[in-house]
Amino acid sequence: MTEVSRPSPFAPTVDFDRDGTQHGFLRLPYSRDDSAWGSVMIPITVIRNGGGPTALLTGGNHGDEYEGPIALFDLARSLRQEDVAGTVIIVPAMNYPAFRAGTRTSPIDRGNLNRSFPGRPDGTVTEKIADYFQRYLLPRADIVLDFHSGGRTLDFVPFCAAHILPDKEQEEKAFAAVEAFSAPYSTRMLEIDAVGMFDTAAENLGKVFVTTELGGGGTARAGTVRIARRGVLNVLRHAGIVEGAVEKQPTRWLDMPSGDCFAFAEDDGMIETMIDLGEAVRQGDVLARIYPVGRTGMAPREIRAKMSGILAARHFPGLVKAGDCAGVVAVLTD
Ligand code: CA
Repeated sequence: MTEVSRPSPFAPTVDFDRDGTQHGFLRLPYSRDDSAWGSVMIPITVIRNGGGPTALLTGGNHGDEYEGPIALFDLARSLRQEDVAGTVIIVPAMNYPAFRAGTRTSPIDRGNLNRSFPGRPDGTVTEKIADYFQRYLLPRADIVLDFHSGGRTLDFVPFCAAHILPDKEQEEKAFAAVEAFSAPYSTRMLEIDAVGMFDTAAENLGKVFVTTELGGGGTARAGTVRIARRGVLNVLRHAGIVEGAVEKQPTRWLDMPSGDCFAFAEDDGMIETMIDLGEAVRQGDVLARIYPVGRTGMAPREIRAKMSGILAARHFPGLVKAGDCAGVVAVLTD
């Protein structure tokens, strides 16, 4: 247990308790061949204007998702101190080595930051980043907005989401923030694999935590970036940190009631998506076909929906491997 009390090796260049706008870095020493006393420099902006609530805004938890980083780099240079009551901490690219490489996981240690919480101060670079957020940034926050998109291998209908939680008061606050975000869809989200997630870490500390899935395919679209920009300001207004009314847009609520939402490929091959994102799906419908590509004359394998709803996510690249998520069906509840 001694490592639990070990201080983090991070040296931030910003002072979280100082009023004003500071653009700086979370500097993590990282000794390597091309830089003996080098560092990983994670960009951060802190905008503080007196006491009040603190929002922690993050993107680039996975390095190949772009709506969050675009909206947050933009917010960091456009949000004025006089428009803030409280503190806004902006980290547009949490897993910075992954973000610079354009990959989901870190090129340094293959670490998936969103499976690395609570992290370790004496672990890998990715574990050290997780530990810093776990012990130094999350405790400061009242509300956390962590942007995701599908990355290079998935594509989503644009939604903001929160999780069903044992603490119903905390859950209600999270869903109120989701509603304020005003994405075209709002999701009560089920995780396939919640262990080690930033989400779980924040929720276990009692924080109001909201996340998004705003597209994917390893790029960002004009429409999904607009949703991200409006959403982050709406969440800050909702939290009382930025003045003004929430710019409400119509949203449709989605549920992910069970593991039957997910459809996985059982074969390698070429995928033909039979239903587009947002289209209606009935239980038993063929979501996708996987063609064996070694020879002609072979029938494709069909992947069928285990429940009815809409197609909320799909595999993005044209080739799949056995075990890949081929599609996700979610249920409209409004
Ligand atoms: Ca993600």
